[in-house]
Amino acid sequence: MGGTFDPIHIGHLAMAENVREQIGLDEVLFIPAAQPPHKRDRRLAPAQDRMRMTELAVADNPYFQASAIELEREGPSYSLLTIRQLQLVYGNRAEFYFLIGSDAINELPSWYHAREVVTSCCFITMVREGTALDLSSLRDAFGDDVSLDEHIRVIHTPLLEISSTDIRRRVHEGRSLRYLVPRVVADYIYEKGLYK
Ligand code: ATP
Ligand code: MG
Repeated sequence: MGGTFDPIHIGHLAMAENVREQIGLDEVLFIPAAQPPHKRDRRLAPAQDRMRMTELAVADNPYFQASAIELEREGPSYSLLTIRQLQLVYGNRAEFYFLIGSDAINELPSWYHAREVVTSCCFITMVREGTALDLSSLRDAFGDDVSLDEHIRVIHTPLLEISSTDIRRRVHEGRSLRYLVPRVVADYIYEKGLYK
């Protein structure tokens, strides 16, 4: 599961746990983007802080792991490079699923080497409040020779209406983060003075 994770929140964690259980995943890797190609217009918290918060957030779940794979690479965090790198490292021992919300997958045609990305693994998509999955636009963008049915699977699971945008705003306004991020993440945010 990739993301900006600025910061990681309970919505991300609950979604991943539901999906893990529903499709029987052995492990979920949370991969913070070092430089998200689609978020260049916004100032992000430093990648090291986003990484640390991700590590803290997943520490108490034995199925979850934080991965620094995109932080250890130079340049923009293109998902295709990450997928290829993981497939190389794990070889035949693993089958990969890309956990993604409907808001993010609708943007897929604009990703770096989008056709290769979509055919490189199976996307497990959850529909987020306010953003329906736009499969017909995806079909138009990729054309008939890419079988989206094979590469995009929609999973229905209750999602929490939490966003990092709302959390950053709350910190800025001095409002509570209780029950929105793990306690350890809130402590880290206050300690480092993030999002003030
Ligand atoms: P921002 O508001 O800064 O865009 P965000 O909350 O959308 O942050 P991202 O890091 O952009 O979080 O999202 C990473 C991935 O997690 C995306 O695939 C996104 O669709 C998904 N996601 C984000 N929030 C939720 C949520 N509350 N429930 C389920 N999936 C989520
Ligand atoms: Mg987002």
